[in-house]
Amino acid sequence: MNREELIMVCCSDLSGQVKGKAFPAADLPARMARGIGWVPTNAQITTFNTIADTPFGALGDLLLIPDPNAEVAVDWGDGGPTEHWFLGNILETDGEPWACCARSMLGEAVQALAAETGLRVKTAFEMEFQFREPHEEFGSGFGLRGFRHKKGFGEAYMAAMRAAGVEPDSFLKEWGDRQYEVTMHPTRALHAADEAVIMREMARATAARLGERISFTPVLDPGGVGNGVHIHMSLMEPDGTNVTWDPEGTGGLSKVAGHFVAGMLHHLPSITCLTAPSVISYGRLVPHRWSAAYNNLGHRDREAAVRICPVVETEGADIASQYHFEFRAGDSAATPHLQLVALIRAGLDGIRKEMAVPEPTHEDISELSDEELAARGIRKLPGTLEEALALFEADEEVRSWFRDPFPEIYLKHKRSEIAHVAEMTEEERHAAYSAAY
Ligand code: GLU
Ligand code: MG
Repeated sequence: MNREELIMVCCSDLSGQVKGKAFPAADLPARMARGIGWVPTNAQITTFNTIADTPFGALGDLLLIPDPNAEVAVDWGDGGPTEHWFLGNILETDGEPWACCARSMLGEAVQALAAETGLRVKTAFEMEFQFREPHEEFGSGFGLRGFRHKKGFGEAYMAAMRAAGVEPDSFLKEWGDRQYEVTMHPTRALHAADEAVIMREMARATAARLGERISFTPVLDPGGVGNGVHIHMSLMEPDGTNVTWDPEGTGGLSKVAGHFVAGMLHHLPSITCLTAPSVISYGRLVPHRWSAAYNNLGHRDREAAVRICPVVETEGADIASQYHFEFRAGDSAATPHLQLVALIRAGLDGIRKEMAVPEPTHEDISELSDEELAARGIRKLPGTLEEALALFEADEEVRSWFRDPFPEIYLKHKRSEIAHVAEMTEEERHAAYSAAY
């Protein structure tokens, strides 16, 4: 059968879904310049394909412009259709970045950080996901048996990631039932967010190709483990020098990295709706799930919102180049660009105000009383998406990091998602999210 190649230009949208439009490959040069038409109300299509309350209605036009630095071109080597798409920015028809384009927002946040501090953020995403077939034998966490069981998947997945421009770091059988984890090598923030989208999509594409089913849902089974997104970050000079470490600093953090982390933690309750944005995300952000339940800093503690990661300290090892911290209160219902916008803006505010980084916690802080937590400046993260949205809505400072109408649009979008699943049983709700992600 004759075929004409189609190429798609995509965005990762406010629901964490990748969407766009395709065009014949012959039109690529023209499309690189003028993009393809896009509709404002698309921002209000929820992860369940319902349309949230939209101030745009049927009105307005935008352009989705492919970025040559974010191209995915994967030939699977099996004779089937290739995977060929770009991520792009959504612009107004006059070329201005659209206020609800997560990728443009991240470009602006990265520029603001560079302009004010001269620094860049180096980032790597680590993601967990689960196979959806309940009756397979996966063996125990980190086991060779579970690894071997999905080695075919893992190898096809690594090849697809690499062909798509993502440098894989590791792939493993995680502890949870049917759970695996994938991590990329660190790179500059905008690139890392693009790669995080690509990394998720290549996992889905590989699974589809092999007739398997996976999900990045924050919680697959309410009684089971969560699927986290951990965002590793360090601050660097334009030449790539890592400036995160100071052996004398609190948590081993340099002055500037300490302020950055302090800003992330200070603002975390108001931005959790952006980093963990689904209704079921909040079943994961509770104590004893190895995720994060408070806005605390931890030193190698896997229940801290921000964890200072281990480094190789053997004689002669270069600690400064390895030093970094990891944000753990994120999941794959979010668009990675939006997660980084929130974290970078919060960190920049910490630097601006020279916020003091708290001492790392060393104990199970879920056992502390409310008074003790308050005395140490630790706040519990919101317990529901409603609560998280209310904190964002009430926080004028955080909302001011975004251009109108983004805050209003996001609140409407997410409240409509809440309403959609409100009448479902817990089981139905988790099933709906696992199908969506
Ligand atoms: N599954 C845990 C989460 O929801 C993370 C486990 C780990 O990798 O430390 O974030
Ligand atoms: Mg893990």
